[in-house]
Amino acid sequence: MSFLELAKVEKTYPNGTRAVQGIDLAIEEGQFIVLLGPSGCGKTTTLRMIAGLELATGGAIRLAGRDVTLLKPSERDVGFVFQFYALYPHLSVGENIGFPLEASGVPRDEREAMVRDVARELGLEPLLARRPRELSGGDQQRVALARAMVRKPAAWLMDEPLGTLDSDRRLEMCEFVRARQLASKVTTVYVTHDQEEAMRLADRIVVMSDGRILQDAPPLEVYDEPATLFVARFVGSPGMNFVEGEVREHANGPRFHPRGAELALAAPRGARSGPATLGVRAEFVRAEPASAAPAAPAASWRGKVVVDEYLGSSRSLHVDTPLGRVVARGHADAASALGEEVALELDLAHVRLFDPANGRRLA
Ligand code: ATP
Repeated sequence: MSFLELAKVEKTYPNGTRAVQGIDLAIEEGQFIVLLGPSGCGKTTTLRMIAGLELATGGAIRLAGRDVTLLKPSERDVGFVFQFYALYPHLSVGENIGFPLEASGVPRDEREAMVRDVARELGLEPLLARRPRELSGGDQQRVALARAMVRKPAAWLMDEPLGTLDSDRRLEMCEFVRARQLASKVTTVYVTHDQEEAMRLADRIVVMSDGRILQDAPPLEVYDEPATLFVARFVGSPGMNFVEGEVREHANGPRFHPRGAELALAAPRGARSGPATLGVRAEFVRAEPASAAPAAPAASWRGKVVVDEYLGSSRSLHVDTPLGRVVARGHADAASALGEEVALELDLAHVRLFDPANGRRLA
């Protein structure tokens, strides 16, 4: 049995909204799980059901060997942080952070040492005597994180806890959250709609849409082996390039024939004949000046560079082709080719095929 388990968990709100439609999730002790998905997909509702702030209307939740489905939040031994977390205005920063320890009866000396410890990690030491109103919004959020993470409950539950911070602070806080979680091994469920944050933090990313789980896998797998077109589009910036067409058998193996074009692209070995959507990430598309490409024009995929984005460490070329717009990402020092004709080459090891009928990845 896993440390935190959701079995066929459902939530239908009184107004009839089916926010969560029967999800199964098994989380091992000490894992860091990120629930990722667009607004309204049901991730916050899922987290709130684990916390006990909403009751499931179907299914069961088990935490640390107990059925907690119907327990009150205070009976579940969880710590939460939300995007907007009100601090106690009449208490100092130090007292705010120490509050959960005091409430659970930790002796004063021990408590003060624990507060100092977490405050040091977060750079909050100089602020310990201040009141919340004397802090910036970002500092208040750091205090809320410190307050939640000073104690080691059975699980930490976090709902967009870094949402209000600017990007530098966000990175810093990501590092803090992950370092403290790794050191304390508290099982953590973290909600975000920011896929980069999900990649940075998670042992496993659970991608949700319409109250269902589309994929539950380590970040690398979600990125490189997306289970559906939705995941392929949602994860990664930019999302995958897609081309509609069909796979046909040829004497020397399968080929992908884009719809409405004469050319045939190489298809992954073992691809079965039939309609398919080809997906490939920008870093696995190579753009070469067409003049340098040896292939016969009819057999190669060509287009014109319409956008040249220099991104510091890399360069993205947006190429208009007869099969639609394709983004190719390469070295920043690659020859710039705005307005030029280029030939595109795909790295076959990273070409993915999806079923256009249901969006699922084809084996
Ligand atoms: P966001 O990132 O915007 O918070 P989310 O993925 O966390 O989105 P939820 O907040 O879980 O999604 O909402 C899932 C669905 O349930 C949405 O359609 C939302 O409008 C609806 N919903 C959420 N809370 C309630 C409520 N208290 N009563 C009725 N419907 C609700």
